[in-house]
Amino acid sequence: MAETTPAPLERAQAEVADLLSELIRIDTTNTGDTTTSKGERQAAEWVAAKLDDVGIDSVIHESEKGRASLVARIPGQDRERPGLLVHGHLDVVPADASEWSVDPFAGEQRDGYVWGRGAVDMKDMDCMTLALVRDWARTGVTPPRDIVLAFVADEEAGGKYGAHHMVDHHADLFENVSEAISEVGGFSLTVRDDLRLYLVQTAEKGLAWMRLTAAGRPGHGSFVHDDNAVTRLSAAVARIGSTRLPTVLTPPMKQFIEEVSDAYGIEIDPDEPEEALSRLGSISRMIGAALRNTVNPTMVDAGYKANVIPGTASATIDGRFLYGQEEAFEAQIDELLGEGVTRDYIHHDQAVETTFDGPLVEQMVAALKAEDAGARPVPFTMSGGTDAKSFETLGMRCFGFSPLRLPADLDFASLFHGIDERVPVESLQFGIRVLDRFLRAS
Ligand SMILES: [Zn+2]
Repeated sequence: MAETTPAPLERAQAEVADLLSELIRIDTTNTGDTTTSKGERQAAEWVAAKLDDVGIDSVIHESEKGRASLVARIPGQDRERPGLLVHGHLDVVPADASEWSVDPFAGEQRDGYVWGRGAVDMKDMDCMTLALVRDWARTGVTPPRDIVLAFVADEEAGGKYGAHHMVDHHADLFENVSEAISEVGGFSLTVRDDLRLYLVQTAEKGLAWMRLTAAGRPGHGSFVHDDNAVTRLSAAVARIGSTRLPTVLTPPMKQFIEEVSDAYGIEIDPDEPEEALSRLGSISRMIGAALRNTVNPTMVDAGYKANVIPGTASATIDGRFLYGQEEAFEAQIDELLGEGVTRDYIHHDQAVETTFDGPLVEQMVAALKAEDAGARPVPFTMSGGTDAKSFETLGMRCFGFSPLRLPADLDFASLFHGIDERVPVESLQFGIRVLDRFLRAS
């Protein structure tokens, strides 16, 4: 371009908040049902136009009408080297405007924040990525290896119409890609003024949603009856809901606890780490769930009339297992079920885990430290799931790395799917600078 060259990343840092506002204004609410979900096609086309602006081609594929995902490949200097995937989802969970202090789909900018549904999950990373690659294209930056961008549908309902679909039907777009970054990780937790932990996600728990079914002898509600399906099911549900499964320290969480212990100068009992971890604030609820398999009853269904004992009763439980713990988890559940109660999976997805080492991790650490001298990156396990579960099946090492330096007093964990979801503009700008260093070095 003939015009005067702007300072590095000046444009990216200047436009990221406006990009995010624009993308938030495209309501991409995912209800879990295609007929009532919306906006993903429009959002994908919006991304395509932003990439097209700077000469980056992309393709959009739909799994079902409107369930659109976009992929683009930025050629690197060495096209032989395996590429790196930067993926983000375009959909968001619903927001009830009556609970918010702003319109959740207005993309308002106020008090140094961008407000709205998706501001942290995860239109922030979508727009940091977009702003960065637009800046690169305008200033002639070529990354060392291919970078594949994926902006996908349906993450918030398990990815069937987004990442899973792309992996199953368009795997060629991800050919020769060995590593991936996305949500949830790379954000800071302030220990003190000169020390911040940056939690990089290296593992995700697996997902095991099950239906429990108890059988019994149907009969009249007025009789003496000792084989009641509702009673049997209730006992199993009560056992499951009131049991805390044992602490298991997987490698990322062992390392996480050591780092926290060192950062705060406290002893943490590896068998009972939770009390010590409570000082991390609300994030400790997510962390606590990564220390064990968990299971919670969520739905029950039985009977149809007050004086009729039904022949069966069923309940739904939400189980989450750690990497390498699936068999142990199933055995734990079976023991709690007891006689006469069976289980079936209604939704199942794998746990994933990689190690916090190697050149890519070193580049993450270096990029964070270059932008924040008080940064101490640490691995952790996410209690929920992301599209990493899909992309991992193509053989990629997957990391949650959406870098944000956050204000010490911001309750970040509560903003995910929360009311008044918002992100500081300065954090977005920080993220762009870190991503720039990281992707240019990787
Ligand atoms: Zn998300």
